[in-house]
Amino acid sequence: MSRELAIEGGAPVRTAMLPYGRQSIDDADIAAVTEVLRGDWLTTGPKVAEFEVALARATGATHAVAVNSGTAALHAAMHALEVGPRDEVIVPSLTFAATANAVLYTGGTPVFADVEADTLLLDVDDAATRITPRTKAIVAVDYAGQPCDYRALRDLCDDKDLRLVSDACHSLGGSFEGRPVGSLADLSCFSFHPVKHITTGEGGAVTTADATLAQRARMFRNHGITTDHRQRTERGAYDYDMVELGYNYRLTDLQCALGLGQLAKLGPFVDRRRALAAGYDRAFADLSAARPLATRPSRTHAYHLYVVQLTLERLRADRAKVFAALRAENIGVNVHYRPVHLHPYYRERLGTKPGMTPVAEAAYPRLLSLPMFATMTDGDADDVVAAMGKVTEAYA
Ligand SMILES: *Cc1c(COP(=O)(O)O)cnc(C)c1O
Repeated sequence: MSRELAIEGGAPVRTAMLPYGRQSIDDADIAAVTEVLRGDWLTTGPKVAEFEVALARATGATHAVAVNSGTAALHAAMHALEVGPRDEVIVPSLTFAATANAVLYTGGTPVFADVEADTLLLDVDDAATRITPRTKAIVAVDYAGQPCDYRALRDLCDDKDLRLVSDACHSLGGSFEGRPVGSLADLSCFSFHPVKHITTGEGGAVTTADATLAQRARMFRNHGITTDHRQRTERGAYDYDMVELGYNYRLTDLQCALGLGQLAKLGPFVDRRRALAAGYDRAFADLSAARPLATRPSRTHAYHLYVVQLTLERLRADRAKVFAALRAENIGVNVHYRPVHLHPYYRERLGTKPGMTPVAEAAYPRLLSLPMFATMTDGDADDVVAAMGKVTEAYA
């Protein structure tokens, strides 16, 4: 193999770009979608209810409400908890913007908390220091797919009379002390975007054990109307009540048929991700230029992402240079995430600034997400390892 970096004119480690994430769709998935296309119900039909039952079962929840994105799931969760203009909701700064945006949608104020340096999961002690008389809820983000410390979070929320929400968009298929993600908080939010564990194109869901919260989320996805089209059809009724302001956040039957097929493969999908992660862990054990994130015992990490932190002290290059060099080797690395409070919108609107969550801010320039998806081959993973070795050696 050429040791000259591809970015400097050498041969790349591989010829085709390996993406950081990708969906895994098989012929049965395609057949399930086309079958819906031939039927009567394209939306609000039986596949939606079927998908919700299967998802509730898979996540140890009593209720699942399917919506058309993970962002809609977070919005529905904030609505269900009646977050409003006088409320604060604690969120980690190291997350996708949607986690905090959902609080703004309902008029609440996101309050940013810091993360643990080794796992990059919400630091529960730091979150506790951000609680004020206005705090209504904490949103825990299972960053990269490892569940947060739900035991400490539950204790804190019970003690302070707060509601606990899990942004589980990274952790479907994970568990904490044997209990599945989706059953660990008052409300849990999932995304079925193509890079996530299972996909419906776009899509999401809220899971809960609380019938009232589930009903609020269910109405919210359908304009705040108490019944849906299928229920009225079955009853031969035309009239309905709109009792609060909702949205059209419905997931279609086509998407739910796809979701059902995908959900049936969740176990093998997560197993494959975990096997790839174990291979990366072994390969990077003595790579001093990059450290994988720490994992905690009694948790099943679902590995939406495989994140390393670059040891910049051992490199002559910054993250941007390492990123560009790996992309040139056709390794589709990515970065998750710039801390949300550092985005211009938040700085202008909420007055957030650097220094508010120092651990997340110190981690950000070191973060790199390596390719991770269920249909990645061992050869693909070998290419990632080879490229990481080649690039970090060149910049040592
Ligand atoms: C993907 C994701 C979302 C949003 O999901 P969409 O389906 O893209 O709307 C929210 N939070 C986190 C942490 C995510 O990774």
